[in-house]
Amino acid sequence: MIARAIARTAATAAFGLTMTSWPGTTPAQAGVMPAPVLPAHVSGHEARTLSVSDSPRVTSFSLKALNTGETLTVHMLGDRPTDESARAVAHLLRCTRTQKEHEIDPRLIAVLSHLAEATGSDLELVSGYRAPKNAHDKNFHTRGMAADVRVPGVRTWDLRKLAQDQKVPGLGYYPTSKMIHVDVRDVPYKWTDWSGPSR
Ligand SMILES: [Zn+2]
Repeated sequence: MIARAIARTAATAAFGLTMTSWPGTTPAQAGVMPAPVLPAHVSGHEARTLSVSDSPRVTSFSLKALNTGETLTVHMLGDRPTDESARAVAHLLRCTRTQKEHEIDPRLIAVLSHLAEATGSDLELVSGYRAPKNAHDKNFHTRGMAADVRVPGVRTWDLRKLAQDQKVPGLGYYPTSKMIHVDVRDVPYKWTDWSGPSR
């Protein structure tokens, strides 16, 4: 009896020893917990990424206004247009009814830039800034915060999906008009409009 108890204790001790002294691995490392220290080459990569991101990434994309046929190459520094491009975008997106120009929200220009990058194509602008028709007109187009766009060769549904993946806050899907509406409102809202072109 005593001998068996001693034998069991010895076996338990040996088993415990095996578990805790497994070569180079603690139970936490063997399980789902991440290793607390990154390998040196990963740390080095992180450091390089940080140093590159100190200066904004320079990109550009093309925008064509369907109403006028005008095209524009927009230059971006990170998520902001250059000052010159910001002015040129305001001109390209001007109200087609009144010819008035309005500053275009840089966040909207960043949305357009990301869509162009995701599709690898130029964007076609259906509608940009629209001068308000009355004091109650609070449409995001009247604030330089919205644009209706399409990309030749890209299905409207797929373009909508790309915008959704990028968490564009205001997103309208216009399957009949073959375009999406994007805007940079504060409270996210999505909708589908089956009506055809009204302008
Ligand atoms: Zn719109």
